[in-house]
Amino acid sequence: MSEPVVTLKSFFEQAREGRLTGIKCGGCGEIAIPPKQFCANCGARAWQSVPLSGEGTLASYTIIRVAPAGHAADAPYAVGVVKLKEGAAIFGRIVDVPFEKLAVGLALRFRPIVVKEQTSVGFAP
Ligand SMILES: [Zn+2]
Repeated sequence: MSEPVVTLKSFFEQAREGRLTGIKCGGCGEIAIPPKQFCANCGARAWQSVPLSGEGTLASYTIIRVAPAGHAADAPYAVGVVKLKEGAAIFGRIVDVPFEKLAVGLALRFRPIVVKEQTSVGFAP
């Protein structure tokens, strides 16, 4: 068995530098992010790395008013699922958008959120 072409570690290393990288199934063309072992669509394990534009639209969102432990100071904040131009959907935090402006279909662009050594997926207008 070979290693996946994009590991979670390399995914977040690239994300930290502002690049969103997905994996594309060699069996059916499905795009997956973050990386996983097997294609959820066809079960193949034939990934190729694919650079993503990071541009997409908001598919659904929630405003977190009571944050999980360790994030209490961050609340309230918005999280959502962004449907990328390439077709894949990814979950992340939504920044720089007033809550009243949040709407399904809002155009957003990937922006890494780097706190100390930790990188997470974010989106901004
Ligand atoms: Zn597939």
